[in-house]
Amino acid sequence: MIVGLTGGIGSGKTTVANFFAEFNNVAIYIADLEAKKLMSTSLEIKEKLINEFGVNSFLNDELNRQYISEIVFKDKTKLSKLNAIVHPAVKRHFKEFVDNNSNKKYIIYENAILFESKSNEICNYIITVTSNLKDRIKRVIDRDSSSKKQVLERVKNQWSDDKKKLQSNYLILNNDLSVTKLQVINIHNILTQKVR
Ligand code: ATP
Repeated sequence: MIVGLTGGIGSGKTTVANFFAEFNNVAIYIADLEAKKLMSTSLEIKEKLINEFGVNSFLNDELNRQYISEIVFKDKTKLSKLNAIVHPAVKRHFKEFVDNNSNKKYIIYENAILFESKSNEICNYIITVTSNLKDRIKRVIDRDSSSKKQVLERVKNQWSDDKKKLQSNYLILNNDLSVTKLQVINIHNILTQKVR
């Protein structure tokens, strides 16, 4: 059983995923992290990226994230090409992860752009994490010293919470962390009842 976990930037997806990770019968897949890892380790992706974006795509054998980001930020066609290289590989990798974790009750699949990338279609249930915008902005600024403008820019590019909520089975309001944890325990209890 695949349980999608999403929410806007700084809402607390990773924090919530870490709470789920405390249950030993649940497997956690953080899509963004795995995609980044694959882009640096998969020879197939590396070859395709160099073909598409040139040798500068890698610096000392490490993915040159800044170089590629700058290109795709300015050019939508290039962004589609990047996605066409990375997405199928990530999809395959996730499928392997699911197969390797068939002994678990369910899989938490954390993806910031779950709906935007249509990955909700592979999920049996969906959890959306919400939190008020002011706190989210403050958390992200504190975490990675982005500017308010940069955070708002990313918020603008994501689906609104209202739109996500309409297609979610469960909502987690992430303000006080101890209350967040109680909500996670509650949802875990419901989900484990669903799998026999
Ligand atoms: P992103 O989309 O940017 O990856 P995210 O939704 O995964 O973010 P987290 O990384 O979990 O969000 O949280 C963002 C920051 O806010 C982290 O530094 C985290 O420790 C902090 N944080 C999360 N939830 C809370 C909370 N309820 N109270 C205080 N700080 C929090």
